[in-house]
Amino acid sequence: MQLYSTNNPSAQVTFKEAVFNSMPQDKGLYMPVNIPRLDDKFINNLDSYTLPEIAFHVAKNLLGDDIPADDLKAIIDDAINFYAPIVELEKNVYVLELFHGPSLAFKDFGARFMSRIMSYFLADGEKQLDVLVATSGDTGGAVALGFLGVPNTRVTILYPKGKVSDIQELQLTTNGQNIRAIEVDGTFDDCQTLVKQAFTDAELNKKFRLTSANSINIARLIPQTFYYFNACAQALKNGKNKIVFSVPSGNFGNIGAGLLAWKMGLPVEHFIAATNANNTVPEFLKTGIYQPKPSVSTLSNAMDVGNPSNWVRIADMFKNDTEQLKSLVTGYSYNDEQTLKAMEWVYDAYKYVVCPHTAIAWQALKDWQQDNRTDTTGIFLSTAHPCKFPDVFPDKIANKIVVPEQVSELQKKPKQAAKLGRDFEGFKAYLLSNN
Ligand SMILES: *Cc1c(COP(=O)(O)O)cnc(C)c1O
Repeated sequence: MQLYSTNNPSAQVTFKEAVFNSMPQDKGLYMPVNIPRLDDKFINNLDSYTLPEIAFHVAKNLLGDDIPADDLKAIIDDAINFYAPIVELEKNVYVLELFHGPSLAFKDFGARFMSRIMSYFLADGEKQLDVLVATSGDTGGAVALGFLGVPNTRVTILYPKGKVSDIQELQLTTNGQNIRAIEVDGTFDDCQTLVKQAFTDAELNKKFRLTSANSINIARLIPQTFYYFNACAQALKNGKNKIVFSVPSGNFGNIGAGLLAWKMGLPVEHFIAATNANNTVPEFLKTGIYQPKPSVSTLSNAMDVGNPSNWVRIADMFKNDTEQLKSLVTGYSYNDEQTLKAMEWVYDAYKYVVCPHTAIAWQALKDWQQDNRTDTTGIFLSTAHPCKFPDVFPDKIANKIVVPEQVSELQKKPKQAAKLGRDFEGFKAYLLSNN
């Protein structure tokens, strides 16, 4: 697979280069030169394939000969070793549960696949890969658990003290092995600034092979296409068609993967981009004006993004036809009060608990079906397990959340985290002396 920069189509790189660079020098994003259309035989028989079979077929078509088939298959089987079931909540309303991976969020798909791809491409004898990541919660857990035990890699996670939930903190700080956590006395932005400074520090770059694990890496996007095909496969198996996906969106990587899958032949009718009060994209879809804004804090904080970093990919895929994009995707945005109501309605109607991000996607799906087409099969994506956000639920719902066993296991392990301030000198000294 060759990739180009969205800022300069003639600047092309290989898949391996795109994975390790993460982002082109010109600050564009990498996109595949050729987005392959999957063969009719595969699309028409989607319902006869399993998730690992679908994942292999999609990845093989995208990557071509970059990774030999047997190796690619082994990577996929190791990375995607959990289910992504659709669950019927009422007629024509399904939830796609993407929280059955180790960190209980959909980011496991991207992080686990990327970690194994990176490890695969590290040739024998190459310097250890040092992954630096700043997190406001979900990304750090997925990256930590995604890289845990992956040979020749080490992960350093910076998280803001007191600003992640208890379960998120456990996921960051109880790993040991090749994962270390730093509790920063500051905000998420401070953590991100420290990581960015490290990437531009000459001494650190000489000593370490630094890389980031952020959501713009193409190796995180590719595996997210797998579950869209697999969700369609399950719906078709149940005799359902006219499929519509509703996606809780922040940086727009998740829905971007859905649209990439659509370009490859995903048999769907429509996408819904569901956001919280950070409504840059819904506004664009309504008015045609793309106006990024500073982010505002909400209950669904993994979607508090005012300038979604993956939007340029979506804009690039539809650059010749914005009207097509607008007819394929509808945006909805909800405030915190509406989010809370949606969480309560979902519980009252189905006795099913959704996290605040997921609640927004449910509400958007219901509104779209009501306004447009009640005959469609709606699938809303559940991006995280509700137990990761215990503080946002009213007690009567919080008490109903069943905490998965892997979380209870974490609670038995000791927390290990270095404590640092938000000054770069302290962080740099830590990296140099803890090698
Ligand atoms: C990261 C995240 C999102 C947003 O996904 P994007 O790909 O950034 O749009 C939504 N929900 C949860 C729970 C997340 O962790």
